[in-house]
Amino acid sequence: MFEVSVEETFAAGHALRNYHGKCENVHGHNYRVRVLVAGEALDSAGLLVDFVELKRVLRAIVEKLDHTFLNDVPPFDQLNPSAENMAHYFYTEMAQALGAGARTNPVRVSEVKIWETDTSSATYRLP
Ligand SMILES: [Zn+2]
Repeated sequence: MFEVSVEETFAAGHALRNYHGKCENVHGHNYRVRVLVAGEALDSAGLLVDFVELKRVLRAIVEKLDHTFLNDVPPFDQLNPSAENMAHYFYTEMAQALGAGARTNPVRVSEVKIWETDTSSATYRLP
């Protein structure tokens, strides 16, 4: 199996609902998100997936969140903008975008990890 990854960073504010502690107050993070994509077969150029394509897809999702107050941006106007929920959001958005393109070699998103700080992260992957 092959696996490739790309990372992006963005800044956003949030306030956690149903939470009692410092993070219920409005505050911001410099988020880092890493997407891992896996597959068994390479394309005719010897690539699992072009880094340029992967970065473009990830950047488009990041653009919707960068410099926003996450609690105002769907689905986080309903869903708590925890790192866990954000990892799942990036996972489903990436999977949808990559599945939409016509590919000669099938790829799947295998993991999304998002860091709120250098030392705190949440990961979503299929069981
Ligand atoms: Zn926070």
